[in-house]
Amino acid sequence: MHVAAVIAAGTSGEAEQQARASLRRGADLVEFRIDALRHPTAGDLRKLASALGPRAIATVRSSAQGGFRGLDRGARHALLRDACHLPFRYVDVELTTDADHLGEYAKLAKSRAKDLIVSHHFDGPTEPERVAEILDACLAAGRVGKVATPVASVDEAVALVDLARQRSKARFVLIGTGDAGGLTRALAADTGQELQYASGNRATAPGQLSLEAALRVRSKDAFVLGLLGHPLGHSISPVIHDAALRAAGLHGLYLPFDLGRTSLEPFLQAAEGLRLRGLNVTSPYKETVADLMDELDGDAEVLGAVNTVVLHEGWAKGHNTDVFGFRMSLRSLGLRLGDRRVLVVGAGGAAKAVVHVLLREGAQVALTNRTPARAEGLADFFDNSVDVLSLDEVTRKGPWDVLVNATSVGTAGLDAGLPVPEETLARTGYVYDLVYNPPETPLIAAARKRGLRATNGLEMLLQQAAKSFELWTGQSAPIEAMKRATKEAPL
Ligand code: NAP
Repeated sequence: MHVAAVIAAGTSGEAEQQARASLRRGADLVEFRIDALRHPTAGDLRKLASALGPRAIATVRSSAQGGFRGLDRGARHALLRDACHLPFRYVDVELTTDADHLGEYAKLAKSRAKDLIVSHHFDGPTEPERVAEILDACLAAGRVGKVATPVASVDEAVALVDLARQRSKARFVLIGTGDAGGLTRALAADTGQELQYASGNRATAPGQLSLEAALRVRSKDAFVLGLLGHPLGHSISPVIHDAALRAAGLHGLYLPFDLGRTSLEPFLQAAEGLRLRGLNVTSPYKETVADLMDELDGDAEVLGAVNTVVLHEGWAKGHNTDVFGFRMSLRSLGLRLGDRRVLVVGAGGAAKAVVHVLLREGAQVALTNRTPARAEGLADFFDNSVDVLSLDEVTRKGPWDVLVNATSVGTAGLDAGLPVPEETLARTGYVYDLVYNPPETPLIAAARKRGLRATNGLEMLLQQAAKSFELWTGQSAPIEAMKRATKEAPL
């Protein structure tokens, strides 16, 4: 498989410069999007062909197929004919728009020993049977057949990967565009595709890989990691793990997998064929996924909740690195909580991991939650005694050495208030907010205003991510690179 950096520049001079830069960065080829030039001429084509033709694809995308400029049919045809005469390695033409000229282009390309890519771009999600039919039509008309289609779900991407595997003897490209289509790009080498298109100077298709990521998964041993949940919303896990994979020089990609509940089991069963090596699991699947594992580690077993899955040769083992992350964060913050009074707010999965750690540390734990029955249920889950308080009571009880917010209250874009009445802070020593987006949550701001020490959930996030990375790769996590990524991530 060749990695082709897509170059969409306004002039042939800029295109040449950007193409040379991409080739220096390791791209095998460049795709010149001639339709992106402001006034594309035969002179531009000659210039680009003589500079870099043997390492280039010439593409004059029509506006009907997502091109940048509305070139008229005659002008496009003239440019494509010229491109076929010039020493480009590949020329890309379109199955439908160029239907009347495909025979001519094929003959010209053959006589000039270049490969004709016959392509088709669907503008909406399409049934796999139709995609297969069109891909085969492209393959019949050119040396290389290329189809790109938007995919709306991970299930559709998996269907495209299956389709690609059935074409393994052909010279083809089959891309699922959009966030859900990542698998088709991650597995391009594994499924035997001819080319992987990557962003040279700017992304030209939704979900297109950066050149660096495309080079990372060029090898046949490329593997996939990802985040399972629904809806996924904003998560910085992909940014952290991408930085880790890059720093460690591993051939992996971390993808978002927004899956419906009924798709979980088939997805996990297909893991080996999809080269999945590991997953993080987030709301609302931590408990459901625990039931689907072949094996659970100690913490996951005790809590019945999994946030990290290690997949190896058809075997799925569930771990709970939230527990590890919270425990390690207490160490790095220097918080020793034996015999301390800790108020935990929340009764979901995160609260469960937090209470589990606190009880092991020997803390006296009280629990409060918007829905009191859930707090009661969580307290009952543990053998040690955990007090359950109403939100009114927490202001009167205490004092608390530490208050831990394990609800989503304060997360950017969600409820911006405080998870407990503000008076609670008058009887609190230290505030630990599991929320990390924004870095200064309303709770942390209120605590600092009163002169309290406070921390957000970034350290825990980092520690749990580092543990997941180690479980998946067997390597120690490049923690500094991961930390930098959390600081640079747009929170
Ligand atoms: P979850 O299982 O869905 O539980 C959500 C909790 O938040 C429940 O206690 C819920 O109360 C409460 N809640 C939600 N909206 C509320 C509102 N408007 N007012 C009052 N309470 C509200 O989620 P989770 O997995 O436990 O995660 C909770 C938070 O911890 C999330 O923000 C997550 O990002 C964060 N977290 C951080 C880390 C980290 O590494 N820093 C790790 C795990 C989780 P009800 O029971 O009344 O619905």
